[in-house]
Amino acid sequence: MQQLAHRLERLGTETAFSVAQAAAAWKAKGNLVYPFHLGDINIPTAPNIVEAMNRAIADGYTGYCPGPGIPQLREALADDIGSRRGIEFSPENVVVMTGGKPVITKFLQAVMNPGQEVLYPNPGFPIYESQIEYLGGTAVPYRYVPTSTGFAIDLEQIRASITPNTVAIIYNDLQNPISAESTAAEREAIAQLAIEHDLWVLSDEAYFETRYEGVSSSITSIPGMAERTVILYTFSKKFAMTGSRLGCAVAPREIAQVLSTLNTNDESCTTHYVQWAGVEALRGPQDSVQHMLDILQTRRDTACELVNSIPGMHVAVPQSTFYLFPDVTEVMERMGYTAVGDFASDALYKTGVSFCTREHFGRRLPGEERQYIRLAYSGIEVPDIRDGLGRLR
Ligand code: PLP
Repeated sequence: MQQLAHRLERLGTETAFSVAQAAAAWKAKGNLVYPFHLGDINIPTAPNIVEAMNRAIADGYTGYCPGPGIPQLREALADDIGSRRGIEFSPENVVVMTGGKPVITKFLQAVMNPGQEVLYPNPGFPIYESQIEYLGGTAVPYRYVPTSTGFAIDLEQIRASITPNTVAIIYNDLQNPISAESTAAEREAIAQLAIEHDLWVLSDEAYFETRYEGVSSSITSIPGMAERTVILYTFSKKFAMTGSRLGCAVAPREIAQVLSTLNTNDESCTTHYVQWAGVEALRGPQDSVQHMLDILQTRRDTACELVNSIPGMHVAVPQSTFYLFPDVTEVMERMGYTAVGDFASDALYKTGVSFCTREHFGRRLPGEERQYIRLAYSGIEVPDIRDGLGRLR
């Protein structure tokens, strides 16, 4: 019998998709399901963006295009991403990819050798841990601690985890799944660690503009950071384009060159006509972005109020992303659950409420005792949020 590659033993996945499968199977049997599990958006892509995509197909933009992206999109991305972060980028810094996810893999391919260590947030987007290990590196988690307003990075722990073998930090401000956002001091402290230890940084900015108040800041704008940071940018969340698969890396030129060659090896190019939709998204009217944020904010307020009305459950109101990460330890204890997975599957089969748990976002760390679930409100309307969380209560 032929064998598969050994490295597959180290490949993880985004297990949130298995929760989606269980929810779909339950729904197919005729049951009501309240989908709080996936960070997908049930608001359609704006008509001007869809029209631009259709027009590009009709105009024949269906062949190959340059590996790092069409010049018009690279230029629009350099302008938009640079101006919102106070940094000057040129199109040569931009490599267009099929969403934000491939930036994670290609960043690691570019900077990490097998056996080297990469720090990553845990709980965090599960693909970090999976790809570091798959590519032969060692995934070194850094953790968050609860505060009165949400969560903060444990700076002492991250500092103590750096060794001569550490090559990079993955940093996800406006964080999935816990919606944590760094203070300026925390961001500065992470930047100083990267500079002091000469580390690369992947700044995952997937939710940079999914925020309800104020403006986001990028670690890249801190002096000494632009030359060591790769930004992960995506159209998925800001423009409700998750299925169109469009994003990019913004990187120092030498790294951008490498990322571009990796892109050519893997994909030749990102779908040509989708890139024209990206140009329209960035250069066209922006009112649909605010409209979507208004909808999400109403959902957030409804969901937070209901979660906080459940005895023993509490969540701080996040200013960004579309996730709530309530502590359910007390509720589980009261109801006699020891495994959060059992709590989640009973919630689905008894109330129809489907959600991910802490276990879907990286391996549980030693000494970690609290139990959490993640409720995504990007794919569910306000009346269903009310019904679903009412049933959960
Ligand atoms: N980074 C974070 C933190 C995410 O939550 C996601 C998607 O949920 C991604 C990256 C990847 O997004 P996409 O590949 O759809 O652009």
